[in-house]
Amino acid sequence: MRTPLKIQSSGGTSGLPRPTLFDPVAWEVQAIQFARAFVAQGAEVGDILQITLTNSLANTAWCSSTAAMHWCGMIPLTTGSGAVTSSARQLELARSWGTSGWVAFGEYLKILAQEADRSGIDLKKDLSTRFIHTYLGVDTEGHLRDLLEDAWGVPVYDNYGTHEVGLIGYECAAKDGLHVNDDTAIVEIADSETGRILGPGHDGDIVVTSLHRSVPPIIRYDLKDRMRSSERAACACGARTTKLSGFLGRLDEMVKLRATSVYPRSAQDVVQGDARSTGEFLCVVENVGEGLGSRERMTVLIEQANDEDTAPLQEDMKHRLKSTFGVSVEVTIVPAGSLAPQTGLGGEGKVKRLLDRRGQAPSPV
Ligand SMILES: [Zn+2]
Repeated sequence: MRTPLKIQSSGGTSGLPRPTLFDPVAWEVQAIQFARAFVAQGAEVGDILQITLTNSLANTAWCSSTAAMHWCGMIPLTTGSGAVTSSARQLELARSWGTSGWVAFGEYLKILAQEADRSGIDLKKDLSTRFIHTYLGVDTEGHLRDLLEDAWGVPVYDNYGTHEVGLIGYECAAKDGLHVNDDTAIVEIADSETGRILGPGHDGDIVVTSLHRSVPPIIRYDLKDRMRSSERAACACGARTTKLSGFLGRLDEMVKLRATSVYPRSAQDVVQGDARSTGEFLCVVENVGEGLGSRERMTVLIEQANDEDTAPLQEDMKHRLKSTFGVSVEVTIVPAGSLAPQTGLGGEGKVKRLLDRRGQAPSPV
């Protein structure tokens, strides 16, 4: 007998997407992983869950809608991204049909909040939102979460997963690390350079063995994401699971600057934490100079929210990014909205934060 299969792929943030095959068991288990997250985040039977990621080659939207309908009694409202259903229409539907929960990327939640401002919708009074399921990125200081919770007036929960192994981690109401779906994945943290397995409390690459995938089996697969794990212990919510930190960076985006490993996405905390910026940024890495004098340079382009003098923001960002990255980088301040074509903000998939020009001819120093 042949096993029925479904083919999905990665979001393709870099290079060709990797295809992923799902048999019916793997498909439903990934939905159950999401269902647990939704219930821990406040979902109730009968809720409408508005999913602002598109059912496409990437599987987050599929997992969310299958979870809602098959495993937790919610009604999925599959509006897709802003490219499929405009932000104004997303808000109209949420208001008219009574959306209780949202699945959305952090950046898109900001766009929806801006659209609400423009169209005179009060997110707190006109909508019936109770919870938001999102992916905060590198938000160790919690700036993005604070901003979103302030705008939407409801709890915003961080989650972590990949198309290969599904939703490994989700936050509960305690917001004290991500609960691991321990029965679906064994999580280890490895040293990026030596591959040695590190104990709880250390930052390293997350290496996962999936317990529900069979085509192909996934055994000790290095996901190239930086995270930290902690031992199984009782959480304030009552559950006992292994826990993960939030996302700390992507190994394949790591840039070595003067022998220091720099993770571009960790600029998010600094940029998002300054109200003079829109929170949007892009790190550009390039080779500069020739011969012995050649080196890599990273410039962080940061959007300024207002029309004021750019020098103070530039100085402050340079100073704070140096302490975040451990090495100094160039900073260029750009107008609000100007980075969207390069970051893909508002389109499908994850926002890009690194533009790698190292394959191109070196720029002058
Ligand atoms: Zn908990």
